[in-house]
Amino acid sequence: MTDIAALDQLHVWHPYTQHGLAPRAVPIVRASGALLYEADGRPIVDAISSWWVTLHGHAHPVIADAIADQARRLEQVIFAGFTHEPAAALAAELVARLPHGLTRVFYSDNGSTAVEVALKIALQYWANQGRPRTRIVALDQAYHGDTFGAMSSSASSVFTAPFADHLFDVVRLPAPGPDTDESETLTALDRLLEDDADSIAALIVEPRLQAAGGMRVWGDGVLRGIRDRTSARGVLLIADEVLTGFGRTGPLFACAGAGIVPDVLCLSKGLTGGFLPLGATVVREALFEAFRTTDRRQTFFHGHSFTGNPLACAAARASLSLLDERCDARRAAIEGTHRARMRQFVGHPWVRHPRVLGTMAAFDLEPPDDATLGGYLDPIGRELGAFALAAGVLLRPLGNVVYTLPPYGITDEQLARVYDVITEFLAQLDGRARRTSPGVAVGVTA
Ligand SMILES: *Cc1c(COP(=O)(O)O)cnc(C)c1O
Repeated sequence: MTDIAALDQLHVWHPYTQHGLAPRAVPIVRASGALLYEADGRPIVDAISSWWVTLHGHAHPVIADAIADQARRLEQVIFAGFTHEPAAALAAELVARLPHGLTRVFYSDNGSTAVEVALKIALQYWANQGRPRTRIVALDQAYHGDTFGAMSSSASSVFTAPFADHLFDVVRLPAPGPDTDESETLTALDRLLEDDADSIAALIVEPRLQAAGGMRVWGDGVLRGIRDRTSARGVLLIADEVLTGFGRTGPLFACAGAGIVPDVLCLSKGLTGGFLPLGATVVREALFEAFRTTDRRQTFFHGHSFTGNPLACAAARASLSLLDERCDARRAAIEGTHRARMRQFVGHPWVRHPRVLGTMAAFDLEPPDDATLGGYLDPIGRELGAFALAAGVLLRPLGNVVYTLPPYGITDEQLARVYDVITEFLAQLDGRARRTSPGVAVGVTA
């Protein structure tokens, strides 16, 4: 059992990995705070919260203890007909922190299932009332997960291409964002609602930040405009806060920051502090009421073997308890560093659209003399990833979109190290440019 990497190569199939090209997976033996450790003790700064899940830090003792204590008391029980303190108390604690009016929590296993549940609740909500609405509306560039409903509502891309024939039709609106006229989204929505609002069950968005679609920041004015219009026409608004939840964009929830309340809100990723998989779909009481009848056919026939798992719920409660003023201060400090360091990249010939939203900072990497690259398969991001890993920093650009989204417990020195490594990479790119141009200096987004 000594050569973990070799065993892995023989028997494991990794996510989002082209095994015909990928280097060996790096074995990690322990972790603490923002640091991952290899077997020889070499630390790696986790600048992306291990795919956006690690909220406070790796192996945080408060969450680790909560899981251990819970495991000795009650590790799992069927969640139909039974309940337990971790699930009931977590639901109440989430409701207390979420935008006012979101009162019912449906648990599932991950972000994709949280979205599937949201879509199914939205569709059945209308069916149960005897006035079925069947269309789903989503934004271009969206990413909502990898199961079929989530893929259908995501933008069609290299991720979804092999399954295109099996995805259901979704109405798409132009995505708001830094490179678009954001009013286009609202104009298209107006047209759609005038046309046939009564056929639309729900509109799903990633509020303020389209993450996997390229860390695209969009305005809270558009989000409020979407809420106003959907409310006026009775269309349900689903906020996919799987990534943006728990402070990533600054406020505890992106919807709260924009001052809106969706009808359905999806959570996962940071929900357990990043310790265990857990999804939650939280809805307004009126939606729950449309299912609470005396007709068994109106039951929400959805559940997973591990729905409401006590260990995951205990981890989530411990994580929530750590979202205090100290954590607010840490997030503000990370955002301050992001702004200061991203400003230094403005004007670099390869850097486009530097942007910061809360604890997320990103820019697009584009050669000054070649506009043909870009997109998820662009090799430049993998090149930066390999460069950073060799320097002890975990970055995993989305194609040519470079971003950092660190756990809140990252130290100032560790975050400085992340930016130093990006700076070194940019410096050696500078020399490589065949022709240098001043580049487009875009202000760091608010
Ligand atoms: C990651 C993500 C999902 C999918 O979550 P999984 O836990 O990976 O299934 C859904 N929506 C958004 C916005 C995400 O970032």
